[in-house]
Amino acid sequence: MAVKQTAGADQLGDFAPEFARLNDDVLFGEVWSREDKLSLRDRSLVTVVALMAQGLTDSSFKYHLLSAKNNGITKAEIAEILTHAAFYAGWPKAWAAFRMATEVWAEDNADDAKAEHENSMVFPIGRPNTGFAKYFIGRSYLAPLSTSQVGIFNVTFEPGCRNNWHVHHADKGGGQILVCVAGRGYYQEWGKPAQELHPGDVVNIPVGVKHWHGAAPDSWFSHLAVEVPGENGSNEWLEPVTDDVYSKLK
Ligand code: MN
Repeated sequence: MAVKQTAGADQLGDFAPEFARLNDDVLFGEVWSREDKLSLRDRSLVTVVALMAQGLTDSSFKYHLLSAKNNGITKAEIAEILTHAAFYAGWPKAWAAFRMATEVWAEDNADDAKAEHENSMVFPIGRPNTGFAKYFIGRSYLAPLSTSQVGIFNVTFEPGCRNNWHVHHADKGGGQILVCVAGRGYYQEWGKPAQELHPGDVVNIPVGVKHWHGAAPDSWFSHLAVEVPGENGSNEWLEPVTDDVYSKLK
């Protein structure tokens, strides 16, 4: 498939239409597009190193770093590529290239950790838990597993995320059961020390007990939340778990 490029026409179409055509139609439309000869990923690798070797770390370099990322070069790989090239192209050029690469691959640390967490469990992470976000500190995710008979939801907390103090109410029956599936987290009842949670741990939360649950400060965490059927069940959301309380956890 041809690589579509319009940078030449956009920036130099009036001033140098032939240069623009060679850039867009030949360099990108033909050379970059010969994927059967060399993959886009490999072409990105060659291009990034060639630009770095000349010390050309301008906006076009950033464009090629973004392309390299989109073409599948990972954060670990670009680090290795620039390190290797540094010995042949020059140390200061690698420094300049790394400054830009850290921006382009910046958000990948969080993404990698999230993907790693999802891979470590059999249940999906699901979607951002926007409906309950106002009762949480930090980002959480919700995957409904069962929505009939007994409600079962996989709740995932990013590191540092926890829900507010809350109480599950019901006139009869009710309450909540947590089944921990991945990562490391905490459960705490009002007036008691926090309890560290690991995959396989089960927590029975009776109705009327004020409590919170969430991730450890340095770990993603997922638990199944099982809604124990009851009459007139409701949740009462209270104050957030303050940094003062939460920071005492390890
Ligand atoms: Mn609860």
